[in-house]
Amino acid sequence: MNMFEHIDGVIAISGDLYVKTPEALEVLLAELRTTGYQIDNLRESDLRKRLHADVDVEMMEKNGWSLWYAHLDVRRGKCGSCNGLISVAGICCHGHQCELCGAVTYYKVIDGSMVRFSFVQRDGDEHGMADITMKAQRWDTEAGYLYLYPEIHDGLWLRDKQTKRYFEANRDKWEEVTEDGQRLIRVRYPEPWDYEVSAINPSEIHPHSWNHKIVLVWEGKEYDEYSRDFPLPKSISIYETWHWAPLERSPRLHERIIHAIGMVSDCGYYYQDGQPAFYDLHLENMRRFVEHFTELDLEEWDRVIPRTDRSGPGMIRAIAQLFGASFSIPAQ
Ligand SMILES: [Zn+2]
Repeated sequence: MNMFEHIDGVIAISGDLYVKTPEALEVLLAELRTTGYQIDNLRESDLRKRLHADVDVEMMEKNGWSLWYAHLDVRRGKCGSCNGLISVAGICCHGHQCELCGAVTYYKVIDGSMVRFSFVQRDGDEHGMADITMKAQRWDTEAGYLYLYPEIHDGLWLRDKQTKRYFEANRDKWEEVTEDGQRLIRVRYPEPWDYEVSAINPSEIHPHSWNHKIVLVWEGKEYDEYSRDFPLPKSISIYETWHWAPLERSPRLHERIIHAIGMVSDCGYYYQDGQPAFYDLHLENMRRFVEHFTELDLEEWDRVIPRTDRSGPGMIRAIAQLFGASFSIPAQ
């Protein structure tokens, strides 16, 4: 059972929370905050206003959009040198230093990193797929230069003699320097990358040098970034159902139910050979959605769905028919 489902009027479906009344919402939000969640009000979210400027709040409510987003601030960096817990901000920028011990947490380019790149093509340059690989000596992010050893290796597009020709054809984009008797090639490559300034556009750089990992910290305990043992959901979408439930039967209601469990409602998306795409957990979550938020008699669901084949097309058609899809969904 979901840890917030003990609140009267809160239903958990596939990790999201559906709230039936404003009173239940108040209790839920308070409990989430006490637990340690930060809660974004999506009615007021700038991102939402930017991405969906044409959608007003009333439409969000009516169409059943998620209106609250609860999330835990538990991601931390763990310095590879001092083992201290540090902020994740900038931790993956070339040359970023640990705020506790000063050790560098990450180098994108080290001596010996292979850099596959294209020269940046501007007006008047010849265009086309072309790249070469060169070995890096160092990256001076302050001055915005990448230093490369002069040998030229194959790219993905160019091989052998073509690589040399390409390199020479872009003579205006690199210069030769000598440091301590070592001949090097220097190209403009600022951080962050900038079309106006950069001479190259790297498509692959490896290896990097990592001196940190990301961990999750909760109640003094550390977990791996992708640990399955982390005790709480890291984020939860919250829906206010009193604006739209119960949903009446309609030819497209099955889509809503299938999307609620994070599945695709297009038959053509799935294997067509009958192999299962829907599993027990999917069926349980859909059943809960149907029970709480639609007008369909649950007995009807239970008569049909457990006996339906669990392939993508099979399940989608069965649910669509249950909700009175008047069109027939064509076999793909
Ligand atoms: Zn450190």
